[in-house]
Amino acid sequence: MGRGRDEQHESAPESVEEGPSAGLAADALVGSRRPVLSATAAEWRGWMVERGQPAYRARQVLDWVIRRRAESFEPMSDLPRALRQRLDAEWTVFGTRVVYHDVAADGTDKLVLACRDGRRIECVLMTEGPRRTVCLSTQVGCGMGCVFCASGLKGVERNLRADEILEQVLHLRNLLPPEETVTHLVVMGMGESLANLDNLVAALDRLCSAEEGLGMSQRRVTISTVGLPAKIRRLADLDRQYHLAVSLHAPTEELRNRLVPVNEAIGLGAVLAAADAYFQRTGRQVTYEYVLLAGINDQPADAQALARLLATRRAHVNLIPYNPVAGLPFERPDPESIARFVAILRDRGVSVTVRKTKGRAIAAACGQLRRRLDPDRDPTTPPESGRAHDPHFGFQLALSTED
Ligand code: SAH
Repeated sequence: MGRGRDEQHESAPESVEEGPSAGLAADALVGSRRPVLSATAAEWRGWMVERGQPAYRARQVLDWVIRRRAESFEPMSDLPRALRQRLDAEWTVFGTRVVYHDVAADGTDKLVLACRDGRRIECVLMTEGPRRTVCLSTQVGCGMGCVFCASGLKGVERNLRADEILEQVLHLRNLLPPEETVTHLVVMGMGESLANLDNLVAALDRLCSAEEGLGMSQRRVTISTVGLPAKIRRLADLDRQYHLAVSLHAPTEELRNRLVPVNEAIGLGAVLAAADAYFQRTGRQVTYEYVLLAGINDQPADAQALARLLATRRAHVNLIPYNPVAGLPFERPDPESIARFVAILRDRGVSVTVRKTKGRAIAAACGQLRRRLDPDRDPTTPPESGRAHDPHFGFQLALSTED
């Protein structure tokens, strides 16, 4: 701890939940050709009809991109050649571009994507049994400043647009063999998910739509949040079936203020009340994430206090042993301390799992995705060369507890 905190953490709860202005996101739309997924199906139909094409052509284009894995207009063989040329002049299939692809020994993929404004985002595809889980980012950087996380070290730059969120899933899906597809989504990459609620829900709803997306089940999507009460309630009011994971990390106000500085303006009670409301409204049991930091929040007294907080709730706890971040003074507890923490919760009737660590090859673990500066640098330069050899980097499987 002891890192300098910026002024964002002293703001009132409302402004904590405000996030970067939508105007910043609009800046990102530079360049002349529009990304295909920046338009809705209705907008696509309008575009086709205005150009004297049958409306069903819209569906053909979207189908090629979303289901048939086209990455350019050329392979869209059931569209007239002249139309394909016109499409190519005005549209681009993807607005983001893969600039770096890292594969771990166990087959996990991490992509670094360059947005059209040169800013970089990261996303991960994890394989476990039949599951193909995508972990996606919602912002460039993060404004929450959790003291153990790399994503917020340089603050937040902007929200991602819905199409930039969608494209992460499609780029990763396109790496899979034809008979496989993405089965689960976890919104646990860079950024505070609920600070970009509208764009996130627009992207997720589209992915879950059978008509216009991949037809994924909402129940296989987990949205992880630092715990922004007003946004949690708004999400509940949207009446979706998304699984909510709340990053609690501490059982007391004092400790949470130290670890999750936005808590000072929010308060533990408000976070729990909003999570309770989410459960009541949606019927979906909430998961509480708890990063385990040796000597800081992993003691028996912490486990007992956490059990007291959650024993009366229908909740699940997902413990995340700390992943080292260069320059931060924390340590992962030893296996015995983790086992002891688990046992105390179980003994008190709290459902608990420990998030699985899958390897130590690439920088893709919870809390290790960074906002990369120097966006003006040649975007083809791999990020932070040599990083893949850093023994501190491992990654974890951010599995949802749902199937
Ligand atoms: N903004 C969202 C998503 C964060 S990433 C949120 O706060 O929930 C998903 C989880 O990883 C969060 O619980 C986050 O607090 C946790 N995390 C961050 N840094 C970590 C680290 N270095 N080691 C382990 N978990 C970490």
